[in-house]
This record gives sequence, structure tokens and C-alpha cells, in this order.
Amino acid sequence: MNSGFPNRNAIATRKILDEVAIALEKHGANTKTVHAIKTRWSVNRISEAAEKLNVPLVLLGFLRSWGNTLADEEVLEGLHDWNQKAIPDHDITCPNCKNHLVLNSPMDTIFMARRTCPHCGEHLVIDDAPRAA
Ligand SMILES: [Zn+2]
Repeated sequence: MNSGFPNRNAIATRKILDEVAIALEKHGANTKTVHAIKTRWSVNRISEAAEKLNVPLVLLGFLRSWGNTLADEEVLEGLHDWNQKAIPDHDITCPNCKNHLVLNSPMDTIFMARRTCPHCGEHLVIDDAPRAA
């Protein structure tokens, strides 16, 4: 069986999975998803989940290159830097399911953004500064 993983027990892989979990959690991944990422999902499955969470392409690029075109060290460094970057978090509440969401945007204010709520799957359009409901 080839999960696309070099070796899940390798220290580098564990560190990468931790960074992946942090990054995806920031983009709204729930606890169950985060656990699955750390314990049993393949790189492909993780990339699919990241795509559904509408993570930025740069982040998706690191995931897709993992075990492929990038060395573990490069992926780890990239993900770590990504997680450390001072990207402002935008706290919003899903108008449909009332779950709390954190959106990352390089802008101070999200004027227009489209997201899919990871909790209820509803499409959200944020067309003004995010407000708490
Ligand atoms: Zn929702």
C-alpha cells in the first residue's frame, strides 16, 4: 500500500503532520479532521481536505509537493514559516450554523471573500468587514 507517505513514524513526517494540522485548523478544520490528519490520512486525502477548506494555494502547493517534488525539510520549513507568519485572523460566525470560524487573509480587512463553512457546508460571502453575529 502506498499512502504517499515517506514514513508516518519518521520524526520529520510527524513534525510536518503537526504543522499541517495547525495550518488546517486555522482554516476551520474540526477536531475530528485534525485527528485524522495526524493519525491516518494519506497526503492525497489531506490535500483534498485542504482544498475543501479553501486554504491558500501556497499552502496547498506544499502539501502536494510533499513526498514528491520537495524534500521533507523543505515542506516542514515552508509549513512552519506559513504558520508563523503574522497573517491577521478574522473571526466570524457562520450565519447558518452559528459556528465560529477563523479566516486568514493577508489583508487587514476582508472586503470580499467567498468561503465554504467547514461545519455546515454552506457557502458564505463576506462583503464587508467581518462582524461577530
Ligand atoms: Zn456553518
